[in-house]
Amino acid sequence: MQTIDNFTFKNKKVLIRVDFNVPIDAQNNIGDTNRIDATIPTITRILNDGGAVILMSHLGRPKGGPEEKFSLKHILPYLSLKLGRPVKFADDCIGLSAKDLAGSLQSGEVLLLENLRFYKEEEKGDREFAQKLAALGDMYVNDAFGTAHRAHASTAIVADFFPDTKMFGYVMANEIINLDKCLKEAKRPFTAILGGAKVSTKIEIINHLMDKVDNLIIGGGMMFTFIKALGGEIGASMIEEDFVELAKDIVAKAKSKGVNLYIPPDAVLADAFSNDANKRTSSAYEIQVPWMGLDIGPASCQKFNLVIEQSKTILWNGPMGVFEMNNYEAGTRFIALALARATENGAFTLVGGGDSVAAIHKYNLAEKVSYVSTGGGAMLEYIEGKQLPGISAILD
Ligand code: AMP
Repeated sequence: MQTIDNFTFKNKKVLIRVDFNVPIDAQNNIGDTNRIDATIPTITRILNDGGAVILMSHLGRPKGGPEEKFSLKHILPYLSLKLGRPVKFADDCIGLSAKDLAGSLQSGEVLLLENLRFYKEEEKGDREFAQKLAALGDMYVNDAFGTAHRAHASTAIVADFFPDTKMFGYVMANEIINLDKCLKEAKRPFTAILGGAKVSTKIEIINHLMDKVDNLIIGGGMMFTFIKALGGEIGASMIEEDFVELAKDIVAKAKSKGVNLYIPPDAVLADAFSNDANKRTSSAYEIQVPWMGLDIGPASCQKFNLVIEQSKTILWNGPMGVFEMNNYEAGTRFIALALARATENGAFTLVGGGDSVAAIHKYNLAEKVSYVSTGGGAMLEYIEGKQLPGISAILD
């Protein structure tokens, strides 16, 4: 795998695709700087080695032309602060201003290009547009894992113009290395814990993981589609009727492949979808309307903990319940803590996918697990076993 550690950058202009798609409010304040912060080691490594850096990113969903609120100029002050040096700005990502500024860039200097998605050619993966971007730099680094599942001009097509000088930055390399610790080199027993609302969005993940894991733990809203498939009464719990047959197939497949499938035996019930509803714990298989299951129960937690304690590799995606409401967060919190304990005892633990990442941060445990993936949709596609265009473009 070619990363920035395999190259030298003295007097080179290095075009880096970063993911600066951060939330920005009406006063142009950045809500969450994590994505910017994550790229600083890559940028700094190249600058310290005598390179000049040209940064390109998308921001938000502009309609195909310039829109003030999606201008990357809003992040300039924060980026300069983090890098400890001024950052130049081209108000267009191609064209004269970008060309002139890139052309005169000196070693140790940083240039940020305007939002790539002000051109519809970006998302179309347009070759001519990619070539114009490529003309700005001598080398190409992809460090935008968040968009690695898209074959856009700046994430994949542009790499064709740098056959010998294309590479991953640290964000991308870390994601690949850590995801592969689960998907390609898992120490056994390997346990996947899947939660979240819907089984329909997790089918490909379940199918792919079924060939790899020893244990598969199911929680969250999707557990009720399985419980229905197993003949349980689920009351007013979330259900995807169209997927009950598929859940049956998954149960059968697990059996035939020798995968231990763990479905929660008990649940925390509420008589309405509200934090103020009446609440009680019961079997997850005997729920009567108006009751609905909004979290896994204590017996489930204990059962899952025994599996987690014996695992050497653990992948967690999706909360165990409606963890956004205090009354239904205990299961998710319990799993987060169990992962932290497993990590301390030597297991490799990876948390990925929007809501489980939010949960691990909510309980201040992000530092206590082995790796927290930054990748959202890209991470999900990677664990579905798909080839991500942003990765293939560098590896080819
Ligand atoms: P996903 O995006 O599929 O990972 O789903 C995450 C969402 O699932 C969170 O917003 C949770 O509140 C929700 N969720 C988890 N468990 C349940 C449940 N038992 N009933 C309804 N929603 C749930």
